[in-house]
Amino acid sequence: MAKLKPQSGIMDIALYVGGKSHVDGIENVLKLSSNENPLGASEAAKEALVRASLDMHRYPSTDHGALRAAIGDVWGVDPARVICGNGSGELLMMIAQAYAGKGDEVLFTEHGFAMYPIYANANGATPVVVPERERVVDVDALLAACTKKTKVVYIANPANPTGTMLGEADLARLADGLPEGAILVLDGAYAEYVDGYDAGKALIDARENVIMTRTFSKIYGLGGVRIGWAYGPQAIVDVLMRIRGPFNLSAPALAAAEAAMRDTAHTEKCRIENAKQRDWMATALAEMGIPSDTSTANFILARLASEEEAVACNDHLTSEGILVRYVGGYGLPNCLRITVGDEASCRRVVHAIGKFKEARV
Ligand SMILES: *Cc1c(COP(=O)(O)O)cnc(C)c1O
Repeated sequence: MAKLKPQSGIMDIALYVGGKSHVDGIENVLKLSSNENPLGASEAAKEALVRASLDMHRYPSTDHGALRAAIGDVWGVDPARVICGNGSGELLMMIAQAYAGKGDEVLFTEHGFAMYPIYANANGATPVVVPERERVVDVDALLAACTKKTKVVYIANPANPTGTMLGEADLARLADGLPEGAILVLDGAYAEYVDGYDAGKALIDARENVIMTRTFSKIYGLGGVRIGWAYGPQAIVDVLMRIRGPFNLSAPALAAAEAAMRDTAHTEKCRIENAKQRDWMATALAEMGIPSDTSTANFILARLASEEEAVACNDHLTSEGILVRYVGGYGLPNCLRITVGDEASCRRVVHAIGKFKEARV
């Protein structure tokens, strides 16, 4: 038999591991491990999805026109420069596919999202990890790491799992300092949680080398439906359109996302409730001696005293049926990322961590 050999880089990929959702023998599991919206999707989105299911023998729209129009209305962007994907993950992958191949470099930072090296390796490009400064993306370090081979720079703003973010001046300095031929990708999965943040729109409108990706998986509560979008310069969007599958989004997903996008009252309610519970949880943990950086997203990164304590705390929470994310794999061995739940969930996790701390002294 002929020897089958995948493209170079593919066997370097370590499989992505999602947040756990079950604990053996425990019924009432509280899942705070995947940054899902505790309030769920908008009622309008649920109704739209059910209604669309009645026509599921029909192929979906290929141009996603109605959804792009809704995005244009709500975010004030030109629908012609919006492209929709099967989760923002598909769009993040397509950017690497279109612009980075063998011999090219793809940059991201040390605590960056675990999918970024996968996008590089899947396309044969070389992943390059750049240090952060105290859990914040370091613009100087990124610029220093750039070479003529740099083609794509991924940063999430706000970042996951740190919850920190860069301001517009830093983002502009990064975009303007990149070598010719490199694209800055602003992964805005958590942008909606930041009141007044344009997710990079002004930067994009003034430049040719910046694109943003956005998702319906977080504040819009549609993680199970798989849908996201990107907005960028027309030239980049036109390139991505050529490699996008014509039927990459199902009709029920398109209908749900359009309704969710237009239900701005639900989005606003989720943003306000998240900020309230997040700040309560961060303060309560700080009072127990567990600090966290000020989070701008829908999770906090709790810093335990040591790796041993973080692992023990994670084990204790799991035994109580509470799932959070141990982020040792993100270069943060003493940290737990805890999704902001509803009020009762935040109280439950803080109470359980309090019991854990008490038992250790
Ligand atoms: C959750 C998340 C996404 C969203 O991915 P989808 O494919 O849209 O579900 C993207 N980037 C980061 C950093 C995330 O945390």
